[in-house]
Amino acid sequence: MSSKRVSVIVIGGSHAGLGVSHKLLRRTPKVSVTLVNPSDEYYFNIATPRFLVKPGSLPPSKYLYNIPDTFNEYPKGSFTFVKGLVTKIDYLTKSVLVTTGQNSPTKDDIMSITFDYIVIASGSTTPATVGRGSLKLPFKATAFEDTRKAISEAQKKLHAATRIVIGGAGPLGVELAGELAEASGSKKVIILVSKTRSLLEGATETVQRTAESLLRRKGVEILKNIRVNQVEQDPETDRWTVTLSSGRKIAADEYISTTGVIPNNDFIPKSFLNHDGWVNVDEHLRLVEDGTSRSDTYAVGDITCHPYRLLSRVSLQGATVASNIAASIAKDTRLATYSAEAQKKMMVVPVGQSTGTGHLGGWTLWGCLVWFFKGNDFLTYEAPKFLRGQRR
Ligand SMILES: Cc1cc2nc3c(=O)[nH]c(=O)nc-3n(C[C@H](O)[C@H](O)[C@H](O)COP(=O)(O)OP(=O)(O)OC[C@H]3O[C@@H](n4cnc5c(N)ncnc54)[C@H](O)[C@@H]3O)c2cc1C
Repeated sequence: MSSKRVSVIVIGGSHAGLGVSHKLLRRTPKVSVTLVNPSDEYYFNIATPRFLVKPGSLPPSKYLYNIPDTFNEYPKGSFTFVKGLVTKIDYLTKSVLVTTGQNSPTKDDIMSITFDYIVIASGSTTPATVGRGSLKLPFKATAFEDTRKAISEAQKKLHAATRIVIGGAGPLGVELAGELAEASGSKKVIILVSKTRSLLEGATETVQRTAESLLRRKGVEILKNIRVNQVEQDPETDRWTVTLSSGRKIAADEYISTTGVIPNNDFIPKSFLNHDGWVNVDEHLRLVEDGTSRSDTYAVGDITCHPYRLLSRVSLQGATVASNIAASIAKDTRLATYSAEAQKKMMVVPVGQSTGTGHLGGWTLWGCLVWFFKGNDFLTYEAPKFLRGQRR
């Protein structure tokens, strides 16, 4: 039976890759899915502003889950998990190269897996995650690194710092400032630097004003319309000097960058990428190379060229890809279409445990609703649904 199955390799086992894998396995018995990810744990990174700052607030079981266990429900031979990193896609042999070794991998650490279809779900990382010009904070999963160790080190550093500068006042910057101010009372100085005139660029004016007033009430110093021009870390003391566009220099125990998204695209042929490094896809989420859609390669989640890199986008994208691969296997030419514009715009931003702000389409969310939907446990109640591809 398994030899007759169509082989699908899903590259990346986070929110998007897990969703596609489950949805595909549920949709058709004709596939054999191989999921490749450098860790066998699913990391619910959305809750990082809460548990990195307040370690006791959420146990690791709420944000780290075993991946292979959640695929036990499918028939034998229909699912394989490979703990490794895809380093190359070879279309001549229709195979991918996977390295399973961490540092200098030997021949034994490299394997080749053949495919009929590939789904690229390798996502993105951030400057802070890789410690580039910022305190290293695991805002995203990192390849082969021990996530628990990275979390524990970050928690200790955040706890010890008394003067913290946060560069970037988008949702993550505002959430982090709120958590830090709430956790420390008046013991820490928290400075939030916004390059724009208002916090939360792109949100409605009411939401922007509310975020600012909630943070100021918690004692956060807010600098608006100012850029971070340079950051330097003293190699001996580990302390930071942050130079602003106003000329002011701030000395800080820690500097945290909350801006920037970096595509995880090292293994992806350059001809698949747009000028910023994201994978070009058509309306069916098939990969586009030189203006032509490939029928054997799809992309989903943050790695695609779609501008809103949000968790709230991945489920519909995953359903579209699963449906289209199943249709393609069945030689059905009617493909499902994905439109980023058709998905409602929303922003839900807790400022501390019990309040926050946000909007759903044109509706402003009151603080109590923000607490109910996100602030209480930072959406961790949703993690099992994403893990099992049950989110619609
Ligand atoms: C701190 C933070 C908070 C956020 N909060 C929200 C929020 O509240 N709401 C919201 O909608 N969005 C939020 N987002 C955005 C959200 O995290 C992303 O949209 C989401 O993670 C995208 O999921 P993904 O599966 O596409 O990619 P990722 O989560 O980036 O996962 C990619 C996976 O692929 C793996 N991978 C990478 N390269 C390879 C390779 N070569 N081979 C194999 N595997 C590989 C990675 O290790 C990782 O497991 C937040 C982002 C951050 C950083």
